[in-house]
Formats: sequence, structure tokens, C-alpha cells
Amino acid sequence: MHPRAGIRLFLYDSASRGNVPFAPADPERVRIYTCGPTVYRYAHIGNLRTYLLTDLLVRTLRSLGYGTFAVQNITDMGHMHQEQLEEGEDKVIAAARAAGKSGKEIARFFTEAFFRDCGRMAFLPADVYPRASEHVPEMIALVGALEERGAVYGEGGYLYFDVTKAPGYGIFSGARLGEGEAAERTDEAIHRHKKRPEDFTLWMPAEPGREFRWESRWGEGWPGWHIECAAMAIRHLGPEFDIHIGGADLRFPHHENSRAVAMTATGKKFAALWLHAAHLLVEGRKMSKSAGNEYTLDDLEAGPAGGGRGFSAAEFRHYCLTLHYATPMNFTWEGQEAAARARSRLRAAFRRAALQATSGEDAAAALRAEFRGAISDDLNMPRALAVVHKAVRSGIGGDAARALAAEWDAVLGVGLLSEAGGASESTGFDGGEREEIPSIVEAMARERETRRRAGDYPAADALREKIRAAGYDVVDGSGGGAVLRKLRETGRR
Ligand SMILES: [Zn+2]
Repeated sequence: MHPRAGIRLFLYDSASRGNVPFAPADPERVRIYTCGPTVYRYAHIGNLRTYLLTDLLVRTLRSLGYGTFAVQNITDMGHMHQEQLEEGEDKVIAAARAAGKSGKEIARFFTEAFFRDCGRMAFLPADVYPRASEHVPEMIALVGALEERGAVYGEGGYLYFDVTKAPGYGIFSGARLGEGEAAERTDEAIHRHKKRPEDFTLWMPAEPGREFRWESRWGEGWPGWHIECAAMAIRHLGPEFDIHIGGADLRFPHHENSRAVAMTATGKKFAALWLHAAHLLVEGRKMSKSAGNEYTLDDLEAGPAGGGRGFSAAEFRHYCLTLHYATPMNFTWEGQEAAARARSRLRAAFRRAALQATSGEDAAAALRAEFRGAISDDLNMPRALAVVHKAVRSGIGGDAARALAAEWDAVLGVGLLSEAGGASESTGFDGGEREEIPSIVEAMARERETRRRAGDYPAADALREKIRAAGYDVVDGSGGGAVLRKLRETGRR
């Protein structure tokens, strides 16, 4: 029986505000776009929780028998939020100047850091990581298409999108035109020519000294943030694809506006479904640099106040799984400790069960169905974890236990199997245990995978040589992913 048979996956669609049965255009190639990092700083744990949603979706789809094609962009030329952008702030450049580096150098550094974090979090690699800076011609073409449809106006090198030309504008904000927040600041050049507050910039003139600038028929300048994602999504996934993912904070204006320009330019639906990951608080407070609670994986590793017990990315991942992705998460050190203990107990239980004689195959079948039911219900990982806990209490042993752990860990990615026979090499880079593979090796493997998928084989081969020199090798798996292995294998774990 094909794994897809008999299972109906439901996902909560933020656009239609309801659970909808998942019906991809091509089940062999479910196309997914995730808003990726702006690479001028380290990803904090809230960002990582959002990216985890994509990973859980991809892993769930694969376990249900779908094929996937995932794209996650890298914003490597500034702007985090449109508001900041419209205030003329460019964080890449500010950070670069402060450090005496070029924006490109800074972006490259934090892109590597991002890949390293992805490896530590055991994220399966995306199929493509498009860089915004390498897709400006596509963005310019998209603005051209909007112009042809009469949806663009502006002067002085500024181009604006006329939101009244967009079908169904307001789907995320729920606001009617003209009733939006008064974002307009008439004293700033960027807003001076806007006809209404909801309209937004598609193109801006480059100010003197700006590093990131491109030629266009509207003059030398740079693209707005919303057109970037729309152009990259269309370029790699087509004008219609299956799922668009991002943090809840991106719903408006970013997703509203990406969708608006894409639909207006192409006349197509853009994303069929929109998934949004809820935000993460730390000890009940919004994360911020000034509050000192904007935690990264390194902060987790260091532990509370840098002195206590540190936590691995795998332990953080497990913590995230104890909550549904659409539930706001309040990170506390106590909560993290509890999750780490629960994970450690599960791993020990599976290790013991795997050493016993094979038993409980009927119970395993029922639990397997229960687990699939949980993940098919809008990726309900807390329920899936409850099934895993139930399994270790149900007397399943030997091969039956090993098979369950392998199957479930392919979705959960928390290393259920890592000490139960070393079989956890079937997915991704197995970055769940950072002490296992140096993060730099993971980063190189990830970059190599990206280059390989982009058809840049010389670069991919050069990276593979570097990985080998570091004592590891990459093996391209049949499922399209790549696996890292230590050379001179002496038995994993
Ligand atoms: Zn985006």
C-alpha cells in the first residue's frame, strides 16, 4: 500500500482561516517556500522555531509518502522589516560599517552561521537557498510585469505598488483599504509620493555610498523587501505552488504584500496554503537585544547566565515539539530542562527496548497509525510525542522497537535512535548532536548540497574535498538528501 493511501493530511491555512485537506498539485513534488533569514546577525531561537515548522512539514510529508521541493531564501542585502527599510535603515550595511567589513562579507559570515544552526537543529536541507542579491533581475522583471498591469506609480526614482490593483488585498490584515495604520510619514522622501498608506515601495533610488545597488530603467537603485520574496518564489516554484511558510509576525505586511505583487503580476494564485509559526517569548517577555534575552543556540549551549547546564540544539528541538507550532511558546530554562530530561528518558527507553527480544508487533501497528494520525492533524507534534511515550510503556522490543524509533525519528528528528544501533543516518545531516559532527563540517556539507542542487558541480566537489580533509565524507542519499559520515568509521556511537 502506498503510504499516502488512507491518510488525509489537514493543515491550518492562515489565508482562509481553517483546517483544509491537503491536496497538492503534484504529490511527488510538493512545493514549499519559507521566508528565510536576513543574514546580518545570528538567528535567535524564535527564528529557529519558525524554520523548524518547515522541517516538520517536509519530514511529515515525506513520511506520508509525498515528495517535496523546498525553497528557503536568504536575504543578503539588508532590510528585516519593511518599516525599517522604509526608514532607510540597512542593517547589513550598518553592521558592516561598524565592523569595518563590506556588506557582502558580513552576509557571507552570517549565511554560514545560519547553515551551521540548521545543521545543529537537524533541519533537512532545502532544495534551493536562493540569495536575494542573486535574483535582482527577476525582481526587476516582476516590477516590469506590474507596470504593464498598471499597478505601479511613482517619481524621483521611487516606485510604489498600488494595492487597489491586487485581487483580495487585505486577506491577512483583514483591514479595508484606507483604514490601515497610518504608516505614512509625509516628511520622508520614501513616503512623499504614496497615494495611500497601504501602498508600498517596489524600488528605491540608491543613496550615495550604498553598497547594494543595481541598474534599472528607473535608475540605479534597490528593490523593496516584498518583491524580493515574490520574485524568488516565482522563479523557483512557479506562479502557483503549494505552501508558503513564515513567522506569524510576517503575516502583515510582508506576506500580504508578497502575495499581492505575485498575484497581480502573474494573474495566478501564488501559494495555495499559508502556514504561520507562532512567536516565541523568553520568560514571558518579548526577545530583544536590549533585554539581553535574544537567545541563540550558543546561548542555550552556555546555559542560564552562562554558568548553568547548557542545552544542545537537539534538546531545544525536543522542547519545541512539546508545543503545537501555532501555539505561542514561552521559553523558560525550567521548561528546557524538563524537555531535555524527557528526551533523555525516551532515548534510554528505546535503547533498552532495542536490546530486548522482538515483541509487541501488533501494538506497534496500532501506535504507528496513532502517530500518523497525530502528524496528519496539522502537524500535531505534542500528540505525536505522547504516542512515542506510550510506545515505551507498551512492551515493544527488539526489531519492532527499532523500526518504530527509526520511522518516528525521521519525523521528529530528536535522535531517538542515536544510541540504539546507530541507525539515525537516514535523514539530513543528523545535526541533532552537535558534539558528533563539527558544525563547520555541517556548514560545508550544507553549502555543498546547495551548490550541487544548483548544478555548480566544481564548487560542490571542492567543498567535498574540504569535508574529506576534515575527516568526513558526504554520501548522497536516494531520497535527495545528503548524509555526513566520519571517515575511518569506528562504529557510530
Ligand atoms: Zn519573505
